[in-house]
Amino acid sequence: MSSQEKVFQVTPISPGIAIGKTIKIGTSHLVEHVPERFVAEHETANELEKFHDAIKKTKNSINQLKERLKNKLATSDEAIFDTHLMILEDMALITDVENLINTEHKAAECAIFEASERYVKVLEDIADPYLRERAADVRDVRSRVLENFHVNEGNSLEKNISGRRIVVADELTPSETAHLPQDKVLGFAVNVGSPTSHTAILARSMRMPAVVGMPEELMNLDPDTEIIIDGFAGRLIINPSDHTLDIYSLKAQEANDFYSSLLEEAELLAETQDGFIVQLAGNIEKLEDVGELKKFGGEAVGLFRSEISFLSYPAPPSEEEQFKLYKELLSRMDGRMVVVRTLDVGGDKLNDSVFRHQEQNPFLGLRGIRLCLKAKQDIFRTQLRALLRAGVYGDLKIMLPMLTSVHEIVEVKNIIEELKTELKKEKTDFSRKISIGAMIETPASALLVDHIAPLVDFLSIGTNDLVQYTMAIDRSNDLVTYLYQPANPAILELIGRTVIAAKENNIWVSVCGQMASDPLYTPLLLGLGVNELSMDPASLSIIRRVIRSLKMSEAEFLASEALKCKSSVDVRKMSVELLRKTVPEIADIIIMENER
Ligand code: PEP
Ligand code: MG
Repeated sequence: MSSQEKVFQVTPISPGIAIGKTIKIGTSHLVEHVPERFVAEHETANELEKFHDAIKKTKNSINQLKERLKNKLATSDEAIFDTHLMILEDMALITDVENLINTEHKAAECAIFEASERYVKVLEDIADPYLRERAADVRDVRSRVLENFHVNEGNSLEKNISGRRIVVADELTPSETAHLPQDKVLGFAVNVGSPTSHTAILARSMRMPAVVGMPEELMNLDPDTEIIIDGFAGRLIINPSDHTLDIYSLKAQEANDFYSSLLEEAELLAETQDGFIVQLAGNIEKLEDVGELKKFGGEAVGLFRSEISFLSYPAPPSEEEQFKLYKELLSRMDGRMVVVRTLDVGGDKLNDSVFRHQEQNPFLGLRGIRLCLKAKQDIFRTQLRALLRAGVYGDLKIMLPMLTSVHEIVEVKNIIEELKTELKKEKTDFSRKISIGAMIETPASALLVDHIAPLVDFLSIGTNDLVQYTMAIDRSNDLVTYLYQPANPAILELIGRTVIAAKENNIWVSVCGQMASDPLYTPLLLGLGVNELSMDPASLSIIRRVIRSLKMSEAEFLASEALKCKSSVDVRKMSVELLRKTVPEIADIIIMENER
């Protein structure tokens, strides 16, 4: 490769700038094949012992690693190791391995590989990107267990890195990422991965700039090639010129200072310059996320994706198990508002793993509230009973996903009334006035919002699905990402209608889709009149800064002009202009060069 500067567009997964020489890491540490080996019947007991011994040793080494990184990682990210420990304790997997040894007389290492491979395949087939990423965790843990059988010797990652370098790899597993020595590794660029992977979560937590989608040709770079990783704008620059180096060195310094200053503002109100207050809440999936939410100054849980918590149980959790979970969540939030979304299973989400329900066109099938009302009412009723009971312990609200008609809401409300009568008869304590909210995430619900709003206590706009269904694009399909346009006037129109209906019915309205965490859209959403923004906790600081720099009058003007635009490009142009004027320090970091 020539030594001329070359710029590649990639996907940013962890913000920050890294400038330095590369070090290439292969992926041979991951065990991708174990030759088939059988043992005699009398040797099976010995193989079983070897298997259990390997599990025990791996658990010990994970616990040691967890201990070593204790003060370097956020509490929620330490949970990644708990996920790995959970995989090692998974009874289905353990039984599978034992059966392969006992009945088919497979050697322990083959049985481990074969059983975990089945697990990996199930996870890889799930459309939900979060769960698909869990396959990487299983492969990672499996490789660690197999180290005990010496099928994977001599690949210590730590030993391979010398000096301060940018790691270039085809893929990094979460435990490899956790092992990256922070004093030596400036950042990393990998080919395979996604922003929802544990690897990405860890990189963000370790404040290590990182990008994915690196072109394969870059795997053959000379080891000493100088590169720049821009984890904000998603750029990878090979052999940067002196001029580019100057620009990026300055940018890196500014970004560092900026992020440190943002954390100091976590306690401040999200209040505009002219006194308009917006509630900032977090989207979380498990109890351990509460610490992170508080660290970034989240005032409430705006979206608890309850279906993800179901995954921690071998079967749908009982009423008692769920009651304990929701009660604990309220307690950790010190009584502050917690919005629990009822099971949003179906379509692209968790079908295989939770309900083993298959459909030809799942995005348009029995998803969310439909599945709960039509096919799995028993499970839905159990969840609602648990929520009603937990509601006594704090400000718990119930939110319904994937609504397309008022009948669905009426039906749920009838079920809730029946359950209240049941609980009253049983003399079980429950919340008599629990709030119910509607997610507006389908075009039908947005168009019917004047009829929906009078039936509920709040509205929450799920822009991820609203964009998907309005623009008719699969949100996980790379080929149509260019049409994933939250700022499309068609979407803004639907958001605008929803806000107006909320105001007319004196209820509050939030946005809990990804759009809420993009600073470029903050002025638009405020200007349209949204009361709350709910997002991944780490994005709260930057959004708070945008809100605190903005005047509501400017935001309202932007929103009214945006509604008149004919394309997303025009809306983005105006939004960029306002952002550059009000928060240049953020605009400089997040706005892509072609939009400047
Ligand atoms: C959404 O659709 O915007 C949303 C918040 O829900 P999810 O991403 O879980 O579908
Ligand atoms: Mg959704």
